[in-house]
Amino acid sequence: MSIILDHVSHTYEEGTAMEFHALKDINLVIPDGQFIGLIGHTGSGKSTLIQHLNGLLKPTGGHVYYNGADIHDADYNRKELRSRVGLVFQYPEHQLFEMDVFTDVCFGPKNLGLDKKEVELRAYQALKQVGLEDEYFYQSPFDLSGGQKRRVAIAGVLAMKPDVLILDEPTKGRDEILDQVAAFRKETGMTVILVSHSMEDVAKYVDRIIVMNKGEVLMDQIPKEVFKRYKELEEVGLAAPQVTYIMHALKDKGMPVSADATTIEEARLEILHALHR
Ligand code: ADP
Ligand code: MG
Repeated sequence: MSIILDHVSHTYEEGTAMEFHALKDINLVIPDGQFIGLIGHTGSGKSTLIQHLNGLLKPTGGHVYYNGADIHDADYNRKELRSRVGLVFQYPEHQLFEMDVFTDVCFGPKNLGLDKKEVELRAYQALKQVGLEDEYFYQSPFDLSGGQKRRVAIAGVLAMKPDVLILDEPTKGRDEILDQVAAFRKETGMTVILVSHSMEDVAKYVDRIIVMNKGEVLMDQIPKEVFKRYKELEEVGLAAPQVTYIMHALKDKGMPVSADATTIEEARLEILHALHR
């Protein structure tokens, strides 16, 4: 099963002086279980794109299909879709509202109509998955640090046991939760889409990178292939991970290394092999 975007366009304030073409003819297939990095400069359309995947925004042109069905058909159940395709917003404050953390995380599964025991079990498991310690469970989510709020927001989505988890980039600070995300993705096999303006942050995790530029898909490849195009990335205000630059510099200086290592660990092995040669 999959998510398909078929010639999707989105124009904000269509027909006014403020008209803005945020997405232009996007065609993508997102199969089950992939780990995807959605990268682009600020304003490239990333947040607009992901809000189309769970039906929060409606394309002004084209269609979005979830498991074969057009999500904007008159009789399509978009409420159900939102529990299958979980979206964690850029600002966790926008999705926290209950008096304490545990009640907040219970909200989603409760809304699915599950019984109390199942709701509480799911909330507990989700809070464990994001690595939030028990001492915070009965505090107000608004008293937590930015990073902890984000964990609670992610737990709230996970408690619905979605098939797809989409994490929009945190506004402040680095996302320290990505190791946990990688771990529970491996456990559950869910599709994960990480939105970021930094290659560095996602390179280590993802199987596929979609690069957005000015509302269009500029690249859609495995990380190694994307990083080979680092000069084009720079032209759109992005950069490959630092290790890419180091490997290219070593190669240019005559060291027999392959320049397409994408993580520090790969680079380390590549350099060690070169030194042994
Ligand atoms: P990104 O997430 O990559 O930073 P966005 O999808 O948030 O990009 O925004 C893409 C463009 O659409 C930006 O130029 C932004 O100003 C514009 N935009 C976003 N939301 C709205 C809106 N509600 N009304 C008008 N323009 C918007
Ligand atoms: Mg954004």
